[in-house]
Amino acid sequence: MMLKEQILQLKKEKNAVILAHFYQNDEVQDIADYVGDSLALSKIAAGTDADIIVFCGVYFMAETAKILSPNKKVLLPKMNALCRMAAMIKADELKKYKEEHPDRFIVTYVNTRADIKALSDVIVTSSNAEKIVENFKDKKIMYVPDKNLGTYLRHKTGYDIDVWPGFCYIHDMLTISDIKKKRKEYPDALVLIHPEAPLEVLLQADFVGSTKQILDYATKSDAKEFIIGTDEGIIHALKKNNPNKSFHILANGLSCINMKRITLKDVYESLLHEQHEIKVDQDVLEKAQVALDRMMRLS
Ligand code: SF4
Repeated sequence: MMLKEQILQLKKEKNAVILAHFYQNDEVQDIADYVGDSLALSKIAAGTDADIIVFCGVYFMAETAKILSPNKKVLLPKMNALCRMAAMIKADELKKYKEEHPDRFIVTYVNTRADIKALSDVIVTSSNAEKIVENFKDKKIMYVPDKNLGTYLRHKTGYDIDVWPGFCYIHDMLTISDIKKKRKEYPDALVLIHPEAPLEVLLQADFVGSTKQILDYATKSDAKEFIIGTDEGIIHALKKNNPNKSFHILANGLSCINMKRITLKDVYESLLHEQHEIKVDQDVLEKAQVALDRMMRLS
């Protein structure tokens, strides 16, 4: 039997659901029950009837699924699929910051580990961050850990937002000269960029949005050609949804190594042996759940 068929059979036998992020390898996206961004996948994880969730993404995503669905078995087919941005903040650093700044309301990007979420007031994703901070506009906010998304939020809202110095190494590498070069090459194309890029780059874009928002924008737009400023994994879904439109990646090397670790074989092995299960300390899980539930209510 082909690997794909074996996975589908195992999935049925074990009542499992496969969730994949837009940045995953094409073959993994094609086997998934749902492909989406962090917000959509979190919602699916929270509401699924499946007994097993196979999460094809990076560690914090599978961990978030476990927090939202604590009674399910959550598997991450490759345990070394780690987000570099999530590693840029440690719980003891955030605890210290909170002690020194007790007046700051901690708004935390979903791209963090469970212990950071447990120290937070509310969680956001790139899809809902602006909508959620609006509820706390009278507060002094500390946004962790992505300095770029935090700076963009401050620019858009004008609220009092301090930012942690973390970043995504993929989006942070984008520059204004990348945009100038691509606009010259494809003068009719619209530039769509993810808000994890630096502010000066975002200000040159035709549209700024999360992966799902970029997908929706390109699908609804009358334009036929687009320059995409996010991980190249999204091109697969863009082309699938828009076979008659053209997509160009904004810069070379826009591919997160950790997002590409999982292969079909890993999905199969993980499901067959029910291995690489995500565990979260109960106390941390309960505290992180409060901040995540708040996000779910407000988004
Ligand atoms: S693309 Fe960036 S934010 Fe996403 S998992 Fe990779 S390092 Fe983390």
